[in-house]
Amino acid sequence: MNIHKIVLPTPYAIGDVNVFLVKGDALTLFDAGPKTEEAYVALQRGIREAGYDMQDIEQVVLTHHHPDHAGWVDAFPKADVLGHRYVDYWMRQTADFLQYRESFYRRELEQENVPQGDIARILDARGELELFGTRPLTQFINDGDEVPGHPGLIAHETLGHAQSHFMFVEEHTGQAIGGDLLLEKVASNPLVEPPVDLQGDRPKSLLQYNASLKKLQQMNIATLYTGHGEAVTEINSLVTARLARQHERAMYVLQLMAEHHNVYDLTKALFGKTYAKQPGLTLSETLGQLDYLVEEGYARSEMQNGVQIYMQA
Ligand SMILES: [Zn+2]
Repeated sequence: MNIHKIVLPTPYAIGDVNVFLVKGDALTLFDAGPKTEEAYVALQRGIREAGYDMQDIEQVVLTHHHPDHAGWVDAFPKADVLGHRYVDYWMRQTADFLQYRESFYRRELEQENVPQGDIARILDARGELELFGTRPLTQFINDGDEVPGHPGLIAHETLGHAQSHFMFVEEHTGQAIGGDLLLEKVASNPLVEPPVDLQGDRPKSLLQYNASLKKLQQMNIATLYTGHGEAVTEINSLVTARLARQHERAMYVLQLMAEHHNVYDLTKALFGKTYAKQPGLTLSETLGQLDYLVEEGYARSEMQNGVQIYMQA
């Protein structure tokens, strides 16, 4: 794979994001950075340094819909835009979708016993939607598809961090573009997101994420180009370490369950002051550990007066 990495600034705590220019039969940009002025300038410079112009980009392929990855599809009005069909909701942002999203989060947060004031604050974090691109996808990608213009580069659905997440693997070279599936320095958050069919139950993001990591571990990948930080080459050992760390963290949540029994209380016990700074992220993390504890038989859960209660099994 003839791959050129471009590093773009983001306004998020994660720091810079990587996008990748890949020259095959087509010239493709994998991910497009957040829709900020600074990222646009860096993107334009990076494409020029690789010997191309913005207009030369024939298609943009998205690893997932998060705004640090999917913003500047708007900079390529003539290019095709490819991604998981779930990405399309976030690009179009129809009134129906925004309403569904709001009612989904309100219901979930109430079941987590989050106070009404905090729910309003979390739902008001509208700024995030402004950094998304607004171009609908021109083509949906499905699990197992080959990326057009790149023979042998296969999309693998790897949900968990996002409900739209793909990695792209070139088997004969062992190179892969991994999005945020596995990062060099930090664990990816199993964010709570509305389900892909916009109905039914909340996806259990951490369980999906662990399954995706195991899928990654079984592939023969030599170099994983990541969405943030340096490429990862020791994939097996890093996945093993991440899974072990997650299990340890879950065992700590299980101890906290002696005194705390809903997601809100457990999150405050687990994160302290960080909860107030990043309520969405910290609640997602706790809920993920609880799903894991229930799935593995360490804990049980039931609904009491509209709140999900957790107990040691
Ligand atoms: Zn990211």
